[in-house]
Amino acid sequence: MRSRTEFLPYALPSIDEQEEQAVLEVLRSGWLTTGQRTRQFEQEFAAYTGAPYAVAANSCTAAMHLVLAAWGIGAGDEVITTPLTFCATIEAIEYVGATPVLVDIDPQTANIDPARIESAITARTRVILPVHYGGLPCEMDAIMDIATRYNLKVLEDAAHASGAAYKGRKIGTIGHATAFSFYANKNMTTGEGGMITTPDAELADQCRILSLHGISRDAWKRYTAAGSWYYEVQALGFKYNMPDVLAAIGICQLRKLDAMNARRQHIAAQYHQAFREMGFLTPFPPELPDDRTHVWHLYTVLLNLDALRIGRDQFIEELKARNIGVSVHYIPIHYHPHYRAYGWRKGDFPHTEAYYERTLSLPLYPAMSDQDVADVIEAVHDVGTRFKR
Ligand SMILES: *Cc1c(COP(=O)(O)O)cnc(C)c1O
Repeated sequence: MRSRTEFLPYALPSIDEQEEQAVLEVLRSGWLTTGQRTRQFEQEFAAYTGAPYAVAANSCTAAMHLVLAAWGIGAGDEVITTPLTFCATIEAIEYVGATPVLVDIDPQTANIDPARIESAITARTRVILPVHYGGLPCEMDAIMDIATRYNLKVLEDAAHASGAAYKGRKIGTIGHATAFSFYANKNMTTGEGGMITTPDAELADQCRILSLHGISRDAWKRYTAAGSWYYEVQALGFKYNMPDVLAAIGICQLRKLDAMNARRQHIAAQYHQAFREMGFLTPFPPELPDDRTHVWHLYTVLLNLDALRIGRDQFIEELKARNIGVSVHYIPIHYHPHYRAYGWRKGDFPHTEAYYERTLSLPLYPAMSDQDVADVIEAVHDVGTRFKR
């Protein structure tokens, strides 16, 4: 086989002269931090999703923290989420002093299983925090129905789901609030950054105030001609505002988002077709629900370990030896030392644990060439046939 001579990174952003030019303009404008560009980015993101309000933050972690803090979630409150996520989801809950309650995934989608949520609800439950794993939207009708019946808030972790849709509705318009990530490897990026969308004007206001030291609205205007030196601190806030330098990148990325997601979908379809024929792994998800738009932040496969002489970890090493970057999403939350204090045990979330044992994530991003895609398929095929049982 023709082996790649150059390492194919697991992820790469799509940045070109448009972003370079936009950043240069901000750098030359004299206004670097939160200002006109950030407001413009918020307005364009709100218009794109169809959400009434959007508030920028400097990360998705910060965005989730802001929403929970603005809702007054705190000690004694419980927030229901998934164990198959990045630690940031759980950290946002911990920052406000609330208790994370984990509910196992649906093995067909790797998203939180709505059928298991109700039995996890207690008198202390305040919020459901679903994660749209890999860019495939959760079963939002079922989740919103539970939230309505138990009077709970829904905050969606849409770090993977910029541009995704559920039953024709864009992610960002369904829950009481949604948090997006613009981290360097996400579907659209500002390097670091995040966004809150919500239909709730008061929540948007409160998040905006808390994102900048709890200072009264539009504090950034005070250095402009229209501004005043006077400000009031209204609450204990945070330093979570997005600077204009990064918002300028976000505006460019948002305009390319649909095209970038379309390229992801095209590559995912090629992968799916190729991998369906290989008996030693199963492309994920095995069935694509046809009522949602998957934006393929992750492309994962599940190894059929019975058909292989090697395990997941060695499969990854073999792909790396063939110059293919690989990752794993995610080490289940309850496996991390920090979370031992919660008393979760191996065996508590069997679907998450079984998924973790078999999964690996392959490179999938718009900057990949057709040859890159073919190289990944060939390397996977080569490792699988070589180590077939
Ligand atoms: C990346 C990620 C986050 C955190 O996003 P940041 O913008 O880096 O704070 C949260 N949740 C999930 C599922 C993620 O993948």
